Amino acid sequence: MVINDKMELCYNCEACVQACPKHAIHMEDDGRGFRKPQIDEAACINCGLCARVCPLNVQMAAYKHGVEQQHIRGIKRLDEKKRRESQSGGAFSVIAEYVLEQHGVVYGAALDDDLNCRYQRVDKTEELVKLKGSKYVQAEVGEVYQSIHEDLKRGNKVLFGGTACAVLGLKTFLGEEPEELLTCDLVCHGVASPDIYQNYRDYQEKRHGEKLTGFNFRNKKFGWHSHMETFTLESGKEEADVLYRNLYYGHLCMRESCYHCPFADMSRVSDITIGDFWGIEKTHAKWDDNLGISLFITNTPKGEAVFQAVSEELEFIVSNREECMQPHLAHPVQKPKGVEFFWEEYRTRNFGYILKKYGSGQRDVAVLKCLEAKKEAGIKAESYFVGHNCFRIALCGLNENTEALISELEESSISIECILETTCDNEACRKYACGKPVLTVSELKAGEVQEIDSYVVTSVQFSLDMLQELRKIGVPLYKVVPISFLAAMEI
Ligand SMILES: Cc1cc2nc3c(=O)[nH]c(=O)nc-3n(C[C@H](O)[C@H](O)[C@H](O)COP(=O)(O)OP(=O)(O)OC[C@H]3O[C@@H](n4cnc5c(N)ncnc54)[C@H](O)[C@@H]3O)c2cc1C
Ligand code: SF4
Ligand code: SF4
Ligand code: SF4
Repeated sequence: MVINDKMELCYNCEACVQACPKHAIHMEDDGRGFRKPQIDEAACINCGLCARVCPLNVQMAAYKHGVEQQHIRGIKRLDEKKRRESQSGGAFSVIAEYVLEQHGVVYGAALDDDLNCRYQRVDKTEELVKLKGSKYVQAEVGEVYQSIHEDLKRGNKVLFGGTACAVLGLKTFLGEEPEELLTCDLVCHGVASPDIYQNYRDYQEKRHGEKLTGFNFRNKKFGWHSHMETFTLESGKEEADVLYRNLYYGHLCMRESCYHCPFADMSRVSDITIGDFWGIEKTHAKWDDNLGISLFITNTPKGEAVFQAVSEELEFIVSNREECMQPHLAHPVQKPKGVEFFWEEYRTRNFGYILKKYGSGQRDVAVLKCLEAKKEAGIKAESYFVGHNCFRIALCGLNENTEALISELEESSISIECILETTCDNEACRKYACGKPVLTVSELKAGEVQEIDSYVVTSVQFSLDMLQELRKIGVPLYKVVPISFLAAMEI
């Protein structure tokens, strides 16, 4: 039996496993921490059900809602405690509480006792907290579709909150869209390998000589615009780090289907789509208090009715497509060139090496070394960027070195996305821009910030003001590479 002919794009939704009447399918590790279904041919009766429920076999257009009936808003929960507990403005929890009040049940991604991420069922408001917060890793579906099917059969209202691919898997598994089912997907960057996440926890446990009892992928206590992970040790001590985040945003450890995501656009498969309202400060600057604002898009009348029912618990603004646009509402995450090499290293090297090479924040030091080597041995600056998986970079500030750097980098696979005009507003400097778009920091859309692998400061005077400006729009420090320290060097 062949479930589909694009298995490399499997969403790991396990619809096929759950649908098989003979329990002839199980998931097997693919060597990267994702899983692929395997069929026991001896048990299979060729009924074809697995292929029928597989979301890779459906006409996507039949499941996507038209954009004409969408309502786009930015929201904050009025209850500040609940807003702080959520990743952005608390959109998911307000919907979930509403469903629970109707004696319904809620399914979403949570960490289990071993800190593994799985979809779980919640039927009490006090348990909702475990579903809150973004876990930047693939959540295991397990037998959750089956459990939802049973809840629906019992007449329960059900909210399913997860990635759009998991929502589609649920719909193809059910084979219909029951009135009692409400679906809520996320604007989605992509999911990282559960193996990488497990290895990272093992690494930190070894380093601290203690077990981890909690993990927060993006702790909001550092502010909504910031991104730092924290983990709790058995002793109760909390530690903060950025290594996992760096690995995640390096885009090397994502599931293959995320590089080809068919859900990364405005027409959605769920009743409601939520996300971080990146860029809100451009149109509603005073509203951004760095505590989190959710993008809240209703895609169907059912979704809109839920919004109307919960709106009293929210502060909201009416928005539109232009204002809310961000990369993953327009296109999937770009597959970095070094993916195969990364997994080859992952397979053959120890995890400490992987973390140091791909998760390290010491990029500026590496630039320094690379450029020193360049001086001595004629090595191109490109090797640094390729070595750190930086293929889309922004040069900050224009000076006489910029033109040479652009031409050297663009001979290779590196693309200069834009020049960020910083403290230097001298018209004469623009001649060094080589026709690249020159933007001020405030013109750079917040969503685009995450799409750029590295911000290279070329200005001779490295400006702390500029650094602060970059931080304000959410550029993590590890991305800022102060080449200016090397001003004495010919680039
Ligand atoms: C892997 C991932 C990538 C994301 N990428 C983007 C992005 O590029 N742009 C953007 O605007 N927003 C993105 N988000 C969404 C954003 O981070 C917030 O989750 C969203 O704004 C909801 O926040 P909230 O305050 O409403 O609710 P919260 O209560 O914090 O959200 C919880 C919801 O997120 C779901 N969830 C959490 N982790 C996972 C997971 N691993 N798999 C499936 N569902 C999960 C829960 O099931 C629940 O439905 C991403 C989230 C995840 C999990
Ligand atoms: S064809 Fe039927 S029996 Fe065979 S693996 Fe698929 S669902 Fe199971
Ligand atoms: S049903 Fe889901 S898990 Fe099974 S092959 Fe299709 S996408 Fe993969
Ligand atoms: S990027 Fe697309 S395919 Fe990947 S988890 Fe998100 S919705 Fe699914």
